[in-house]
Amino acid sequence: MTYRNKFLGKVEKIVVKVGTSSITSDDGKLNIEFMKNVAYQISQLQKLNKQVIIVSSGSIGVGIEMLKLGYRPREIPIRQAAAAVGQSVLMQEWRKAFDDYDLDVAQILLSYDSFSSRLTYLNLRNSISTLLSYGVIPIINENDPTCVHEIEATFGDNDKLSAMVASKIEADLLIMLSDIDGLYDKNPKRNPDAKLLSTVEEITPEIESFGGNPSSTKGTGGMRTKIEAAKICNMTGCFMVIANSAIENVILKILDGEQIGTLFLTKEDVHKNRIRWIILSKSSGKIVVDHGAKNAIEKKMSLLPSGVVDVTGNFERGDIIEIECDGYLFAKGITDYSSDELDLIKGLHTDKIVEVLGYKNYNHVIKQENIGIIN
Ligand code: ADP
Repeated sequence: MTYRNKFLGKVEKIVVKVGTSSITSDDGKLNIEFMKNVAYQISQLQKLNKQVIIVSSGSIGVGIEMLKLGYRPREIPIRQAAAAVGQSVLMQEWRKAFDDYDLDVAQILLSYDSFSSRLTYLNLRNSISTLLSYGVIPIINENDPTCVHEIEATFGDNDKLSAMVASKIEADLLIMLSDIDGLYDKNPKRNPDAKLLSTVEEITPEIESFGGNPSSTKGTGGMRTKIEAAKICNMTGCFMVIANSAIENVILKILDGEQIGTLFLTKEDVHKNRIRWIILSKSSGKIVVDHGAKNAIEKKMSLLPSGVVDVTGNFERGDIIEIECDGYLFAKGITDYSSDELDLIKGLHTDKIVEVLGYKNYNHVIKQENIGIIN
């Protein structure tokens, strides 16, 4: 087992971010061969039961080309127009690339608001996991045409967006494909003596100083926003690798444990920290469960509606609630149903959820990994 394998051998959910500089050629056109190769690699990963989500830049570049602008506009309305024109072509090309492998793609356009509102975020998480369960490849981009901030500057050309997606959907690995081999100790395009870092264990101020300012002509994020993205991944237990998209089958090689690009490690006790955070957070309500459910929770199983006896307080999906049995508070968890929903489905078998609510968020009320037991 290689050093890399130790960390990357078990990853199941992967976000692949394709930067502007990888997806467009020097003449500004889409690099179709590259897109086809990405589709091939992802089809191979699907065979290994890995789930892959793409975050794809490139719409503005394609739009500029289609509108025959001949320059990279700074004016927001023109950039937004270019993005709107380019996005459909970008998706069409992704669709064609995946068609060869009988895989469907789905377009998801996101803005910051998608993450700040809990409900939109939960819906996003649900829709991505549903798409993945159907074997569809979600292809995400920033919603440039409606974004009110300066586009491609807010998320740093999708760097931050891809990290937020990876953390919110609890991905195990974020792969950032760029036009560079990884993170160097200074900008290698200006300093021939720059050294490539193969592993970053901790993002220290020194590592951050390697980011410098954006410098490539096509991309806008540079390394600064990639290091910011690595920080988000680090906090949420997701590994991140920056690698050169020009390497043949780069994604497969990374997952094979080959020493490619820069690997950012993550804190291994993230799970413990998360549980501690759940236990220490203020709760918005309480549920009472029966003995069977308490036993199941203690055996590290998810809580099902059939074990819920009573519901108090007003809470929403995604809130932290207390779990009580026989008058004793013994656990806390993040609920996947609101108090109103739970009032209707408490005590019921999972099969009855759709009948009563007309829809189903999940089979469980609280997922096992979202429950912290209080000793
Ligand atoms: P993408 O479009 O793939 O997101 P960017 O062009 O935004 O990529 O960022 C990659 C660029 O960052 C590199 O091509 C390089 O010019 C620049 N860069 C600046 N500092 C560094 C560094 N320390 N290590 C590697 N690349 C750096």
